[in-house]
Amino acid sequence: MAAKRCCHVHDLAGPKVSFKEVAFRYPTRIEPVLSDVSFCVEERSHICVIGPNGGGKTTLLKLMLGLLSPDQGTIELFGIPPHRACRHVGYVPQHSVIRPGFPITVREVVLTGCVEQHRFGWHKKGCGESADQIMEELEIAGLAGRPFSRLSGGERQRVLIARALISGPLLLLLDEPTANIDPKVQQQVRETLNRLSSRMTVITVSHDLDYISGELDGVFFVNRSVRLLQPGEVTSDAVWELFTQRK
Ligand code: ADP
Repeated sequence: MAAKRCCHVHDLAGPKVSFKEVAFRYPTRIEPVLSDVSFCVEERSHICVIGPNGGGKTTLLKLMLGLLSPDQGTIELFGIPPHRACRHVGYVPQHSVIRPGFPITVREVVLTGCVEQHRFGWHKKGCGESADQIMEELEIAGLAGRPFSRLSGGERQRVLIARALISGPLLLLLDEPTANIDPKVQQQVRETLNRLSSRMTVITVSHDLDYISGELDGVFFVNRSVRLLQPGEVTSDAVWELFTQRK
């Protein structure tokens, strides 16, 4: 069972994310989606992943999550393969996986992040306390009893981030966390992620170029390979050139 293969914090060493000469191709495709990808992300870094549609950003996240395996090269999280590091990784998916209208409250959604512990029935009380603490931190405590389906886009995003945080991850991966929310709330989400990056590594796929600020430690430009840019390098003209450039 995947859960049993996960490691404890004290077993973990090495960079938070390391890719060495990674290549990946979907079996139904002739061309690789990603090739020759090598990089290291250190502890408490805040990285934004940008690139054109179809460039391979989501595939890169799925490789980090261990949902896909590389055809070539090595991927390690904390010095071990991604599938063994899963307990220490929080993931906020691009679209809510909760069916619209499904009768579940905000607190219950946050608690689903604790499902693994519930299965063994050991940490139930601890989970409730963690949920309350995280909802407080993300300023959604007042929404705890509200149906999830009645929330705004920005509120839902905060709830999904809280759900990813409840297991105390060392690495938080997010796919388009500011998509479909208004600019003021986007700014709040960016601030929240910046704050979180002081205690964990945060890697965010984003189309939101306002996300790219001096607060980031790096920007990955993904278009069949991964190129590391400094946030200052990402001027509008440079980004436009990269987005329109053919590989
Ligand atoms: P991005 O997130 O940058 O938009 P993706 O990683 O989703 O890019 O997709 C990269 C490429 O891989 C695209 O050409 C996409 O059509 C293709 N792709 C994505 N998922 C699959 C899949 N399950 N099977 C085959 N091709 C896929």
